[in-house]
Amino acid sequence: MKKLSILLMMLFFITTIFSAIFEPPIKNSYITSSFGEYRGTGNNPHYHLGIDFSTFYRENVDVYSASQGYLKKVWINDPIYGNALFVNHPDSNLTTVYAHLNEFNDSIMKYVDLVKEDFQGSTGRIEIVFPENEFQIKSGEIIAYSGSTGEALAPHLHFEVREQTAAGEVVLDALEFINYKEERTKILELLEVRNSTGNYTINQNGETIVEFTGSYPKIDVRVREKLGQNSTILPKKVSLFIDGNLVYKVSFSKVYFENAYNPSPIYGYGSTSTIYWLKMYSDNNENLIITDNNLSRYINSNFAEYNGTIILEDFWGSSKAYKINFIKK
Ligand SMILES: [Zn+2]
Repeated sequence: MKKLSILLMMLFFITTIFSAIFEPPIKNSYITSSFGEYRGTGNNPHYHLGIDFSTFYRENVDVYSASQGYLKKVWINDPIYGNALFVNHPDSNLTTVYAHLNEFNDSIMKYVDLVKEDFQGSTGRIEIVFPENEFQIKSGEIIAYSGSTGEALAPHLHFEVREQTAAGEVVLDALEFINYKEERTKILELLEVRNSTGNYTINQNGETIVEFTGSYPKIDVRVREKLGQNSTILPKKVSLFIDGNLVYKVSFSKVYFENAYNPSPIYGYGSTSTIYWLKMYSDNNENLIITDNNLSRYINSNFAEYNGTIILEDFWGSSKAYKINFIKK
């Protein structure tokens, strides 16, 4: 038994080390947003595809390359990403993205200035694609200076990890790849449950009674995780158990880029960048965020009561369980 636990500990240690293949692009910073959060800004509601690093309300903070690679492309004046850099990492077959930048480093600026001259007067996005392996980037090199260009309410750095797969471009949770420790206090919360019968405030220390109609409870849940005094992020995983069986689970690890602008299978009405109403039901399984969907087993059941449990989990191993007593109306 002791041997097994030592082995498991070593395995955990090894996977923890190997999963952190990128260094944070902003030094001595903390995250202010997580992967998969709802964004309703503009005309195109979408998932937040990266993690945001605080630049402490400042602009022109040094942005470091997360690892070695080569410059893949540069965007200038993208309506959402603003000025952005894409670095390819052949070692891992991943691309890192750095957005809302003010400027690029001097050697990149030389190319950008040349191209900008050709596009004088243009207000749309300019894309400069570099040949494979041509423009080498060192690990930890200063590649740019942060800002608030594009869709950014305040200065910060938006950082993404993407992978090219046979199924298309997949955006991954950057937290899973980065050497980042969260040292602030963490509070996971289920605040409310709602369905066609109404809204129910959750009892934080006991059971909550929720009425439902139909053959099983089709609910939206309002969840969040508070980090320290001023950051609100999305929990990593939310699961619904009915009578001890896992019936529905959302887990924010990857999004197909083609689904990035269709958050409606996951998010309910009233969601904002800090209020997350997650749907705990779906009619399709095409979204990578829905990892378990076994509600159909209750389609013809006609129970008057179900013992529900909703479990929230965060990225760092914390979890919180809530007991819900579902009673048929
Ligand atoms: Zn962001």
